[in-house]
Amino acid sequence: MSYCVNCGVELEASLRKCPLCHTPVFNPRQLNKEFPPSPYPTNKGQVEVVKRKDLGILLSVVLTATSVTCLLLNLLVFNASLWSLVVIGFCICLFVFTFPAIFYSKTPIYISLLADGISVAVYLFLISFLTPSTARWFWQLGLPIVIILTICAEIFPLLARFVPLTILSCSLCIFVEIPAFCVSLELLIKRLLDRPYRITWSAVVLTVCVIIDFALVTILAKKRLRNEVRRRLHF
Ligand SMILES: [Zn+2]
Repeated sequence: MSYCVNCGVELEASLRKCPLCHTPVFNPRQLNKEFPPSPYPTNKGQVEVVKRKDLGILLSVVLTATSVTCLLLNLLVFNASLWSLVVIGFCICLFVFTFPAIFYSKTPIYISLLADGISVAVYLFLISFLTPSTARWFWQLGLPIVIILTICAEIFPLLARFVPLTILSCSLCIFVEIPAFCVSLELLIKRLLDRPYRITWSAVVLTVCVIIDFALVTILAKKRLRNEVRRRLHF
């Protein structure tokens, strides 16, 4: 039985270095002897993952079948309104959202986020198309919200080009975007309801986020403080 000279942990006879502190094992009695073979496998095994192509085929078949069967059901049986457009729109959205992950992983992030935004906008438009009496909400609320959220999402890859994306820098970005979104949302709702442009609840969100932003900027600017926060929160 041998022990690590540095940390004192008990060592297996086959070990060449301490598993805890990585100090090389030195046993004078074993100088000219071979180390016994390690009882642990040296190669990492991996469970075979599902091929993305197969997953893509399955997803395409399910989405196409759902769209076609719902369209037929709509046209042949329940044909009072074009409700199947909502289902088809949802299938298109799902396809667009999963496209970069399943079909073509080299899609630039800007393009895939833009495509996600456009597909959601088209989906909302289809819903508003089916309810023409209240379609105003799409142009005054639905579309602007989708555009703002798409811009918020596009800011992250843009930010990553200039600064390293850490938990702190991402948090700062999120806490700038949240109040911007809330203020825009409240103003859009006021416009839809023909009320005067005044912010109320979003002003509270704005105040809280500004305080958090100041704290985050201070932490990011001071290296010592930043390292201390990283050490304490373990990231
Ligand atoms: Zn050790």
